[in-house]
Amino acid sequence: MTTIRLHNTRTRRKEDFAPLDMDNVRMYVCGPTVYDRAHLGNARPVVVFDVLYRLLRHVYGEGHVTYVRNFTDVDDKINARAAESGRSIGEITAETTQWFLEDMAALGALEPDHMPRATQYIPQMVAMIEGLIAKGHAYEAEGHVLFAVDSWREHYGKLSGRTVEDMIAGARVEVAPYKRNPMDFVLWKPSSEDLPGWPSPWGRGRPGWHIECSAMSYELLGASFDIHGGGGDLIFPHHENEIAQSCCAHPEGQFAKVWLHNEMLQVEGKKMSKSLGNFFTVRDLLDGNWSGGWKVPGEVIRFVFLSTHYRKPMDWTAEKAREAERELDSWVNTLSVDPEVLEKATAGEGQPERSIVEALSDDLNTSLALMHLRKMASFVDNGSEFLNSDDAAQVSHRLNFCASAKLLGFDLVPLSTTRRKQGLSLVSYEIRLSEARAEASKTKDFSVVDALKSGLLDAGVEVRMRKDSVDLVPGPDFDPAKLEALK
Ligand code: AMP
Ligand code: ZN
Repeated sequence: MTTIRLHNTRTRRKEDFAPLDMDNVRMYVCGPTVYDRAHLGNARPVVVFDVLYRLLRHVYGEGHVTYVRNFTDVDDKINARAAESGRSIGEITAETTQWFLEDMAALGALEPDHMPRATQYIPQMVAMIEGLIAKGHAYEAEGHVLFAVDSWREHYGKLSGRTVEDMIAGARVEVAPYKRNPMDFVLWKPSSEDLPGWPSPWGRGRPGWHIECSAMSYELLGASFDIHGGGGDLIFPHHENEIAQSCCAHPEGQFAKVWLHNEMLQVEGKKMSKSLGNFFTVRDLLDGNWSGGWKVPGEVIRFVFLSTHYRKPMDWTAEKAREAERELDSWVNTLSVDPEVLEKATAGEGQPERSIVEALSDDLNTSLALMHLRKMASFVDNGSEFLNSDDAAQVSHRLNFCASAKLLGFDLVPLSTTRRKQGLSLVSYEIRLSEARAEASKTKDFSVVDALKSGLLDAGVEVRMRKDSVDLVPGPDFDPAKLEALK
């Protein structure tokens, strides 16, 4: 069996992964707070842990992995959004949850086995908090319940490698007169009548942020499970606090064995922020509402993500998106001409290449896996390696290529059909035409632009050229085969 190696934030080392139960490998990943569209950074952990989920299913078997990712649907940001928009909290969280599922599906992410919502687990959170109070790890003060970090002082901070003293010195903690230690954090807080609240032994109130993940992972995965993931920004305080709550409430377990954290996403070398004008949601990219101006299909976003290792900062650039678009186009174009391969691949024939499974097993080396896939694609493409081999060898190579791509989350068979039918592959021609036009405006030679335009019109594509954008719209007579002539 393949040995997977993963970098464990807790031990700061790459370790051989040995599941607690080979028949049920268990993973928990912190999901989104649902008050707005997911931005591009939020999509990074989704894609990273989707690849890990696929790898675990490949190695241990599809029915032997349980993946849980929560929705935080009780949070002060949600309350604020409801107050400013005049809409109800339930309406906002339901709509945002649906958007999230649609946008992540567009990126080719499989749905986790369980997607618990915090509001469905309030009684379990209350029970956990009562247990913590009974064991002397939490206390009630002025309608709040707080976790007492001094009751677990020698362990608190182990994940992030800091002592309580360091934290007090470095953190901007909320100073409240009722806290015994400034690092104590909220498990439960009182709600006024206009805010969501549930009955509890401490009056009507709502949970603090961290307790939901402890309660839901315990309910769905037990006191000990294999992998806990999320973005690196969650290590402190969120994950540190989850560990404190879970280990104190359930000392019989060890909570999560392996901790995995993805690095943050940037845009063109800068932090993504609204004030810099480089902030966009996944939906903005899919719809073409971003600085690049073209519609970036989900598989292209995924490709760009996977080209950077998850523990390195990821830089989103328009150039990377263009390259990914071209490469994916060339892959699906070569496949879509072979009906036998399409049929067999749909039926699930083919095996991922060993080299690709190994690259992923080495702490998710997705960029190396993409390189191996590229090598396979070049064989599929020109077929020169197969000049002397029989058709069966070619078909089998193509099927393995499809299976390998699928392990990375690229379902080439449906992609080859949709990209052609919907004219999604036109994006690469939009890019070519924009670039040719930019060049022509310098040289005043418009022959390349004109040739491209007439070739596209011939193929049944409507060409809409505006000052700063090029839109290609497939008409009723769109014939992708005629685009080949433009190559
Ligand atoms: P939030 O809704 O802010 O709790 O974030 C949901 C997930 O997205 C968490 O796992 C965060 O760590 C992750 N995340 C937020 N911003 C970024 C970013 N810029 N890059 C990568 N991951 C991010
Ligand atoms: Zn969490």
